[in-house]
Amino acid sequence: MQLNDSVAELSGVGPKRLDGLHHLGIFTIEDLLSHFPLRYSDLATKLPSEVGSGEKVTFKGLVSSEPVLSRYGYRKTRINFRLLVENENIVVTFFNQPWVQEKLKLGEEVAIYGTYEQRRQTLMGIKILAKDSMDELQATYPASKEVTQKTLKALIEQALGKYKELFVDLIPEPIRFRYRLLPRMEMLFGMHVPKNAIEAHAARRTASFEEFFLFQMRLQLLKMTDQSYHGRSIEFNNNKLKAFIQTLPFELTAAQKKVVNEIVADLRRPKHMNRLLQGDVGSGKTVVAALAMYAAVSAGMQAALMAPTEILAQQHAKTLSQFFDVNDVRIEILTGSMKAGPRRQILADLANGDIDILIGTHALIQTDIAFHNLGLAVIDEQHRFGVKQRAKLREIGMNPDILAMTATPIPRTLAITAYGEMDVSVIDQLPSGRKPIKTQWLRNNEFEKAVSFIRKQLDEGAQAYVVTPLIEESETLDVQNAQAVYEDLMKYFAPQYQVGLLHGRLSNQEKDTVMESFKRNEFQVLVATTVIEVGVDVPNSTVMLILDADRFGLAQLHQLRGRVGRGQRQSYTFLISDPKTQFGIERMEAMTKTTNGFVLAQKDLELRGSGDVLGNRQSGMPEFKVGDPVHDLIMMETAQQEALEIVNTPDWADQPENIMLSKFLSETMERYRNFD
Ligand code: ADP
Ligand code: MG
Repeated sequence: MQLNDSVAELSGVGPKRLDGLHHLGIFTIEDLLSHFPLRYSDLATKLPSEVGSGEKVTFKGLVSSEPVLSRYGYRKTRINFRLLVENENIVVTFFNQPWVQEKLKLGEEVAIYGTYEQRRQTLMGIKILAKDSMDELQATYPASKEVTQKTLKALIEQALGKYKELFVDLIPEPIRFRYRLLPRMEMLFGMHVPKNAIEAHAARRTASFEEFFLFQMRLQLLKMTDQSYHGRSIEFNNNKLKAFIQTLPFELTAAQKKVVNEIVADLRRPKHMNRLLQGDVGSGKTVVAALAMYAAVSAGMQAALMAPTEILAQQHAKTLSQFFDVNDVRIEILTGSMKAGPRRQILADLANGDIDILIGTHALIQTDIAFHNLGLAVIDEQHRFGVKQRAKLREIGMNPDILAMTATPIPRTLAITAYGEMDVSVIDQLPSGRKPIKTQWLRNNEFEKAVSFIRKQLDEGAQAYVVTPLIEESETLDVQNAQAVYEDLMKYFAPQYQVGLLHGRLSNQEKDTVMESFKRNEFQVLVATTVIEVGVDVPNSTVMLILDADRFGLAQLHQLRGRVGRGQRQSYTFLISDPKTQFGIERMEAMTKTTNGFVLAQKDLELRGSGDVLGNRQSGMPEFKVGDPVHDLIMMETAQQEALEIVNTPDWADQPENIMLSKFLSETMERYRNFD
């Protein structure tokens, strides 16, 4: 008998039920035992006025009329009486439970569990609760049609009874004592069958810690194995790198220098690099990527840069070609829209090592791509790529070092969970001379005001963006909406200024053409859907006007705002919206209060809840059953520190206090290996 046994070992689990359990993610006894209640319903007292019709409730009250037992039909019985709950009299009926009569005494207090029918103020009794269990907590489990609450409860209670000898403590004793956590046995019983709220609370605290701690142990172990694999030292030429930095048209910021040092030190180490570079929009990540790639090239290797859109790939190709102008580096671009002939040529040159740096979109991770000697792969705007695509990039070439870049500030929660297996470098400074963007929230009826402000800016030679929201349900509506705004503004600004339109229905080629002519100032106002969200650089734009701004998430608003403020001039963002929810209002207020991406990201998590933000599979965020890494961040950090300390101890797995932990981890590691 072991906790790894299939749940089929329990009595009452046939093939059909087993299937149902599998659907709930329950395979083993351990899975079943850690299928924790979502919440507990407090059986103690409710008032009739608080209860909806058909709801199951417990009423506590005084028996206010003599219970009458009547018989009808063949051996059928009914007991009727009145129950005074606070100051309302309700009628209680028990069918076919004649024995409850003796528990009911006129004038005495009882608690009755049943189904309430509000219209007729009647309670159909299910059971009378014993005096001492009046404040018992009832667990509510995530259940399904095939496996009901009741079944789960029964199975869990069976497992608790049968397997309790096997409940060993996974959290090493010193840690358990340090944080006053419960032994595992008490935790499991406390989670499933708590005697009271205090017990349930203490159990939940231990369960959360255990969950975080096991997660962090797995993460740290994976990270260690990952780094010891396939490690190649990239022996870059430091003098060449320094000389290259001298040729840049600007001085690197201190923050850029710091992260470049972190990255190149990693390249040189014979370990596999898996590094995340976070820097707010406009912080200058591209040049950092250029330096890292140049370092790889100076070591005789190739580098790749993957961008989420074709426009962005083109922009990078152009920027990098300017940086590398004086250097002997061959850069090429590979995109999905490329013709077969040129594509074939590029693939050939790539395979024989003639191309040093390849820039592209998803096209880079297609199966027929073969590098000669890929040392470094950079992923720009990495949150735009799925977990799968990121993993794919590691497979091309020879498991290259990875530098993933993102403008999305990573709240600490994410940094130690979703990205826990990566090392993180942060550019926490903008190039000097940038003026903070001024942000104003305007109501829908103030649109005119914003537009006339734009006109003034155009008069000074600047350009502006007007963003219309993505309407989830319909791309057609979306485009129509943008089209209508475009036509209005065209009339408004004619004949002095021109307006352009960019939306998701355009081909990549068309998008590029629009973007390019906007960059060349051939038109001054660009009406766009969110397709411009990512990375496109037009320093002459000083106004970002966002319509129905409350439809966007904070992260997105922040990204959009980052499109301006890239030149020397003062820039402005207008959020136009009449939010209908408190959340919408809070988002608008947060945007006007701060331009700090970290603060906004944290706020975003709070407003949307971790379920929404982190539950997203795309984000790679693991799902936690009990703990909430946003809410319980400090606990997660504590668990991380403890886990780190353990894995950094030589022979940790052989220490007596860690034996159970290491045994458990080695037995379950396989199942978690694929979470990345
Ligand atoms: P992001 O981090 O958003 O990708 P970019 O790399 O596009 O930012 O850089 C934004 C702009 O800032 C670019 O025009 C770039 O040339 C410029 N830039 C980058 N680093 C510096 C610096 N150290 N000093 C001045 N300008 C810089
Ligand atoms: Mg960028």
